[in-house]
Amino acid sequence: MQERDQIKSGGALGLLQVYTGPGKGKTTAAVGLAARAAAHGLKVTFIQFAKPDSSAEFDSLKKLGVYCMQFGAQGWIKKGGDNTEHAVEAQKGWRLALTYLKGDETTDILILDEINVILSAGLLKTAGVMEVLLNRFHGLEVVCTGREAPPELVMAADLVTEMLDIKHYFQQGVEARLGIEY
Ligand code: ATP
Ligand code: MG
Repeated sequence: MQERDQIKSGGALGLLQVYTGPGKGKTTAAVGLAARAAAHGLKVTFIQFAKPDSSAEFDSLKKLGVYCMQFGAQGWIKKGGDNTEHAVEAQKGWRLALTYLKGDETTDILILDEINVILSAGLLKTAGVMEVLLNRFHGLEVVCTGREAPPELVMAADLVTEMLDIKHYFQQGVEARLGIEY
């Protein structure tokens, strides 16, 4: 039996994880989980919201067989601002996510990177997303990342890790660095 089949038939998959908080490391943690899972033959789909340009980590993940897609517009999502283009992209990303959440042989672990940001900005309705997450295909592990995870998601999750911003070199004037932040 293949390692993937062993893991799946053992019933170990199917939990809901959340990485949130203001500190650095949420997306990195999700990338690390994808790398580990792929090494055991698990099939990972990585959907990244809120960012339009190919993230460097995708180049690495693709080499590991992780399916990666991005849905975001240019510029930051601004609370209370005009986020129309981000909202359109978020809808597209969510439509794709739905196919995996309903159950799909190509995905054992679904990563919804930055979806917390999309929810907290109101670009997708939290109630609708929660209903789908809670009724997802049995055995599908889901990871939601991003600042300000909504309370409904935190309540429902099996794991919530909050990254604290205790210190960040950005405060010393160190801007995002190639190979470290992107
Ligand atoms: P990473 O992608 O490095 O794991 P993250 O996913 O936790 O970070 P995001 O909330 O997605 O962080 O923020 C996007 C960018 O802002 C990343 O380049 C990240 O390194 C940077 N960043 C994260 N936390 C902080 C912070 N507390 N102060 C300044 N910049 C930050
Ligand atoms: Mg992130």
